[in-house]
Amino acid sequence: MAALRYLPLTRGFRARYGYSNLLYGAAGEIVARTSGKSWSEYVRARFLEPLGMRDALAAASEAGTITAWPHARITEEIRGAGPVVPLPRRYRVDGDGAAGALYASGSDMAKWMSVQLASGRLPDGRQLFSAGVAQDMHALQTPLRIRPSDGEFRAADPSFSGYGFGWFVRDYHGTKLVYHGGGTLGAVAQLTLVPQKNIGFIILTNSEESGFLRAAELLLLDHYLGRESPDWVGLQQAEDARMWRDARNEMKAAAAKLPHGPASLLRGLRAAARSAGALFIDDVVSALRREGDAWLVGLGRGEGISCSHVVNATGARAADVAQMAGVALPVRGQKRSVFVVDAPDADPAWPLVIDPDGFYFRPEGKTFLVGAPAPRGYHAADDFEPDYPVFEDWLWPKLAARAPAFERLKLQSAWAGHYEMNILDGNAVIGASGVPNFWLINGFSGHGLQHAPAAGRGLAELMLDGGYRTIDLRPLGFDRLRQAIDAPEAHII
Ligand SMILES: Cc1cc2nc3c(=O)[nH]c(=O)nc-3n(C[C@H](O)[C@H](O)[C@H](O)COP(=O)(O)OP(=O)(O)OC[C@H]3O[C@@H](n4cnc5c(N)ncnc54)[C@H](O)[C@@H]3O)c2cc1C
Repeated sequence: MAALRYLPLTRGFRARYGYSNLLYGAAGEIVARTSGKSWSEYVRARFLEPLGMRDALAAASEAGTITAWPHARITEEIRGAGPVVPLPRRYRVDGDGAAGALYASGSDMAKWMSVQLASGRLPDGRQLFSAGVAQDMHALQTPLRIRPSDGEFRAADPSFSGYGFGWFVRDYHGTKLVYHGGGTLGAVAQLTLVPQKNIGFIILTNSEESGFLRAAELLLLDHYLGRESPDWVGLQQAEDARMWRDARNEMKAAAAKLPHGPASLLRGLRAAARSAGALFIDDVVSALRREGDAWLVGLGRGEGISCSHVVNATGARAADVAQMAGVALPVRGQKRSVFVVDAPDADPAWPLVIDPDGFYFRPEGKTFLVGAPAPRGYHAADDFEPDYPVFEDWLWPKLAARAPAFERLKLQSAWAGHYEMNILDGNAVIGASGVPNFWLINGFSGHGLQHAPAAGRGLAELMLDGGYRTIDLRPLGFDRLRQAIDAPEAHII
């Protein structure tokens, strides 16, 4: 929530439609501040109890009693294609959130729909909210563009569409509908009111079949409005199959054009994190302070972020950031140069070769990447000048002695970066740091790119589930560093 201020405004207030769970979360925060109660206490007292919604839970912490398990199609590269399988874990809204945090049964939702259809009047005649508020909620406040549907679904397209206050509004063959979908990972739902007919229905699923929701809604609308219905479910299945076939083909075509290499892997991981809700703030962490149970992360340019957990993933500078949290981390930056050479006599089919003297070479397309062993000592993390004298005086002669094809070579380019060396045993340090909610994922010592997906997954499991599930990273815990001198990593190139 504290990071919301970093999101740039892209349009004026209600100038156009835009949906954000974060802003529902912010609205919940305003409810809490103005009512003096937590959001869940307020919702329980103000809505659930007067309505007699006895099963409903307004706090994720109570959700352990729910037995419906979430499902999704997650076994293929694209989420949504492939078979429906149970999700490995239940998604939970942390804390007391106003977005996606309410759990209600079908019978409780029927009570909610009844009060909506009765313009706020409860069965005992009291008003839960005024008729004027009900009218405003169900009135079109922000128009939405109507995108023509494909095939037979076009017959179901509305003639008007928009957002009210927390409700969508549109028509179905001239009858006004007030509706909203909802979803968390592995569960989607659709609630539709037909105020003119005093009808409401909700479709609750423990899966991510949003196509099915659309078909089921149309089927029920036709039924209640007395219309003849095509086979909406069958039509939807055919449309889904077509969509996934096209998506797979597009993905294959796009993948064939993608450059392969570390930068594209990182771009892919970053895009996936973003689409899963991660917010990237380009700033420098300059201080860490405990404030009660929270961390206050001081930023160089911005105002700082308050958060419950901090993960230190700062590569060669990890020791500096750990120091801010009071953790002494044996990680130092070590400058390593990479030279790109054109060697016309060498064979681009050669594998990666690591010489016992510590230098290496490997083909990359038509050129070769070559590098010298680790220099002595550690470096300031802002020295990025390639070590040209080492190439001329040491590396080239060594390369030529190992493979005479390197006698004739041309240095094309060079660059330097920093290995984030764990100076005790040359291996990663992953997991708890000993300081509450300050986590480590550091010290990869020059082989971190290949470890990144597994290391990130492992740490996520440890933080979310309290233990490793798919890969046991306990041997890389911080505790083992005491034994490090006895078992150092011997294969750093
Ligand atoms: C020359 C060279 C060749 C390599 N070759 C390979 C290879 O072939 N295979 C392989 O697997 N690995 C290789 N590596 C190693 C790999 O690049 C690293 O292990 C990996 O990048 C470490 O990932 P990381 O996320 O821990 O740190 P980094 O990728 O270094 O990311 C740390 C991030 O934290 C940021 N940061 C630092 N301090 C702060 C702060 N105070 N506030 C905010 N942000 C901060 C940095 O700007 C950086 O963006 C190579 C490294 C070098 C230098």
